[in-house]
Order: sequence, then C-alpha cells, then structure tokens
Amino acid sequence: MTSHLPRRRLWRLARLPGLLLLAAALPLSVLAALPAWAASALSAWRFNREGVLELRTAPAAVLQAFYEEGRAGVGPRVWIDLPGAPQRTRTIPGSGAVRQVRVGRPGEDTTRLVFEFQPGTLLDPTRLRLVGTSADRWRMELGPAAAASFPIGEGDLEAPAAPSWRAQVPWQPRLPQGPMPSTAGLPDVPRGRYTLVIDPGHGGPDPGAVGINGLRETDVVLDVSLQLASLLQAKGINVLLTRTSEVDVDLPPRVALANNSRADLFLSIHANALSLSRPDVNGIETFFFEGGRSRALAQAVQDQMLAISPGSPDRGARPGRFFVIRRTVMPSALLEMGFVTGSLDSPRLADPGFRRRMAVAIANGLLRYLVANP
Ligand code: ZN
Repeated sequence: MTSHLPRRRLWRLARLPGLLLLAAALPLSVLAALPAWAASALSAWRFNREGVLELRTAPAAVLQAFYEEGRAGVGPRVWIDLPGAPQRTRTIPGSGAVRQVRVGRPGEDTTRLVFEFQPGTLLDPTRLRLVGTSADRWRMELGPAAAASFPIGEGDLEAPAAPSWRAQVPWQPRLPQGPMPSTAGLPDVPRGRYTLVIDPGHGGPDPGAVGINGLRETDVVLDVSLQLASLLQAKGINVLLTRTSEVDVDLPPRVALANNSRADLFLSIHANALSLSRPDVNGIETFFFEGGRSRALAQAVQDQMLAISPGSPDRGARPGRFFVIRRTVMPSALLEMGFVTGSLDSPRLADPGFRRRMAVAIANGLLRYLVANP
C-alpha cells in the first residue's frame, strides 16, 4: 500500500497553438465515435541523447503534458496523458539523466507515459512544450541536462503516418474461439525420466522485439515459458529455465546451463517481429540446427502451435543458425510463436487466454515428440 505524497508545484505544460487547432479542426462526431475500449493512442516513443522526446500516436489524439518538480531524493518528472488504455503497464529502465520510464494506467481509458529524471536534474518547466509536428507526431525538447546516455524507446517511430483518422478500422482482436484445450489430454511419458531446459528469449534491458501497442516479446515469451514449465512439471518432466524473471541473461550462459545439466531437450521461446509498418506479415515458424531429432522436435512443436492459431501462416520447421540451438548438444529447437508486429498474431499474443493455449500446444508437441522418440 502506498500513500499519496502531496504533489509539489504541478505544472500543466503548454501545447503549441498549431496543435490545438489540429485537434479542434476534427469533426466532433468523429471524436465522439471513439469506442470507450479504444487501445492506447501511444504507438511509439523515443528519448534521445540530445534530451529530445519524440512520440508517435493515433492521429489527432488529444494529449496533455505535465511537470512535477523533484524533492529530496526524487528527481523531477514529466508525464504525458494519452487517450486509451495501455495493453499493459510497465517500467522501462532509463539511461543518463532519465532514471526510469513508466507506462501507467491512471484511469480506465488513459495511458500515462512518465519520465522520471535523476535527482538534481535541472528542467525549466516554463520552457517545456509538447509540440505536434504532424497529425500523429509529437516532440518535446527537454534540453541537454535531461539527455539520455543512449537512446531509449518503444515501438517504431519511423512508421509511415496513418492515412487518416476516418480510415482507421476499429481494432478487433480475432482470438481463437472454443474451449481451452484440456491438459488432461496431453500424452503421458515416464515420470522423472526427462530433463528439459526452457529458454525464454531476451529479458531485462533487452525486451526483444516490440510490437503493436507496445507488446514486448520478452513479456510474451516469459509468460508462455513459465506456463509451459508448470504444465510439463505436472507431467513428471524435470524443467530448468534459463531465466524466470525480467533479467538479462547472455546467450553463452543459457547454452552452458543446458549442456552442464545434461538435459535431454532444449527449447528457446521467442516471438517474431518485422516493422510496425508491415502488420500484414504474420505466421509461426520453428528452427532447428541439425536434422534428425532436432528436426523432429521442431516439426512436432510447429504442428501443435499451428493447430491453435487459425489463419496464421505456416512458415515451417526449418534450419536456422541461432547460437542457442547451434551450441546446445541435445536436440533443440527455437520457436517463433507469431509476430508481435502482425495484425493477426499481435492481438493473440497480447491475450492471456491465447498464451495459455500456446503453452498447452507447445507442451503437447514436446510430449508427442518424446512418445515417438523415447
Ligand atoms: Zn527473439
């Protein structure tokens, strides 16, 4: 439980008149037609080494920016409220003068992007302006004192501008219907005989791919990996994970864990990404390094992932040279469960129910492989 500290000197930052005109020029009926469940208007953000914040948003979104001065031990904060709720709230480590960035949900239908600076960072709120540079681009210059030591951000700032607000098709997740696949139907293998290493890709400061609505590969793969681990443990398989939380693990230790544990199998779990400007690219693929058992493992898992992903293209079980599958000595596969940048795959991967189906599907594929290759 936390108590609310009194806010000291809260400033609502000015937006440039041009921007206000932009918003005001929109027919009110269009704004009023926005569904209450609209996803976050925040599409991408970046904070650079010159202390410049750039945003990409839904076209003609109405934003509000705020500044709060620092106090003992806490640096100043700048935050921006945008319409629509974020897919999930999150905290991103900062760099340089930026201590931390948070994406919060202060209300049912609001996204709050918070930049907390290091204590002692000097910002002049009278000079801060959030400027709209086009219908969906924004810029705020916070100055060299606020600069990051390396650029931080989420999403694709370079994506082409949306044609127009009117042309936007309401976002409709197409989730697989029907009952959740039963874990009771999973094949049985001798208890205690097999050891599996599950490698949730990325983690910590490396979020992997970042897709639509800020959906991060690291979160998707960690959730599926943890569920997969408990499903297989219930089946009597010894499971080791290369990470169980949001930490950064380099690739060689992931391989060393697998090789030193004399595991029988290794699965590295990922989600794919292309540019946010290519939502048309979707699909599921599984990589193996060498044929034989690894190929059979990859194909078994690929088949089951496809079975729960109607409409998502089959990109195949195919050879790949990824470090973690090249250097592990046991049969191994690297799964790409779909594209976080794909219009079909992304809403699915963002859905906890679908991630559950995915975990059950991967468990099913792995157990079928073990039954066929004891
Ligand atoms: Zn990855």
